[in-house]
Amino acid sequence: MENKKEFRTWLDDFQLKHPLVIAGPCSAETEEQVLQIATELKNSDVTIFRAGIWKPRTRPGGFEGVGAVGLKWLQKAKEATGLLMAIEVASAAHVKLALEHDIDVLWIGARTTVNPFAVQEIADALEGTDKIVLLKNPVNPDLSLWIGGLERLYNANIKKLGVIHRGFSTYEKTKFRNNPEWQIAIDLQNRFPDLPLICDPSHITGKRSMIQEVAQQALDLNYDGLMIETHCDPDHAWSDAAQQITPTVLKQLFLDLKVRKTTDEANDYNQRMHTLRMQIDGYDEKLLEIIGKRMQIVDQIGLLKKEKNVAILQNQRWNAILHKMTIEGKEMGLSPDFIMQLFKAIHQESISHQEKVMNN
Ligand code: PEP
Ligand code: MN
Repeated sequence: MENKKEFRTWLDDFQLKHPLVIAGPCSAETEEQVLQIATELKNSDVTIFRAGIWKPRTRPGGFEGVGAVGLKWLQKAKEATGLLMAIEVASAAHVKLALEHDIDVLWIGARTTVNPFAVQEIADALEGTDKIVLLKNPVNPDLSLWIGGLERLYNANIKKLGVIHRGFSTYEKTKFRNNPEWQIAIDLQNRFPDLPLICDPSHITGKRSMIQEVAQQALDLNYDGLMIETHCDPDHAWSDAAQQITPTVLKQLFLDLKVRKTTDEANDYNQRMHTLRMQIDGYDEKLLEIIGKRMQIVDQIGLLKKEKNVAILQNQRWNAILHKMTIEGKEMGLSPDFIMQLFKAIHQESISHQEKVMNN
């Protein structure tokens, strides 16, 4: 599969002057709840109303969704508001029911994207329809698996495609519910620049206080849209209570978000940007030169270790470097996370250089 201009057509057809917004509750709970939220979202920047009908829960015993009866409520909400309706599908049976109830947009959840059998089943069930299908990233940070899911849908002739970035599971607790790992989405965007990319700050953050910040970051990275969980009484939501916001808060969020342009045609912008980029290019070249020189020293160390039959990995030395660089990096405004990643990569390259030297 390669990038296609047509990927964007469904999005361009909306003729929006702002990023696409998908909003609505994590779960459809009652007919009144669905209608109330949809009504409050009418006449806002929202184009697509979302609601989970079948909820994939990590552990059994929680609220697992109202099931097919909720589809009727969505039909009523569509009639009352004109909003397009979106639900999550995880099987061919879900797809069949969604099609029977005129659902406009189907998204595949993170726990489904990990499973090629399930994605294939959904793709087969959708073959020949012209529904918009949005594929969430898999729960694990695996770009190939995400792209594999897209290919399955594309091969089933589903052309109104898009992706939703909802972050990735980690064992260690971080400030996010699901770590964004922005680079994975950026890599996907680089590969398919015309594929609509939507951010789901609700599932990335897991808490409403951080949604604005992550939504802004997504817009700064040129995302095409946002999916935000919205509920009239978030604290009493039957699922994902901590991350949902009211329609009123959502409307304020749109007023506060700054939408950036992809570029600026003005000469003055281009000239200034050119000068700055020339400086960046200069530093990048220096960086490579310095790292190359570092590796030449590493080769000499490898030779010395070989001569004296000493092991390559010296944990104490490595920890000392990391510690020193983290402190010095901080003074230069570099985050500890970045220093860690940078030096891990340098260390890895150093080890493979030494392995080459030692085993030659
Ligand atoms: C959801 O959107 O409600 C959902 C279950 O999301 P995810 O698949 O990202 O966990
Ligand atoms: Mn949810």
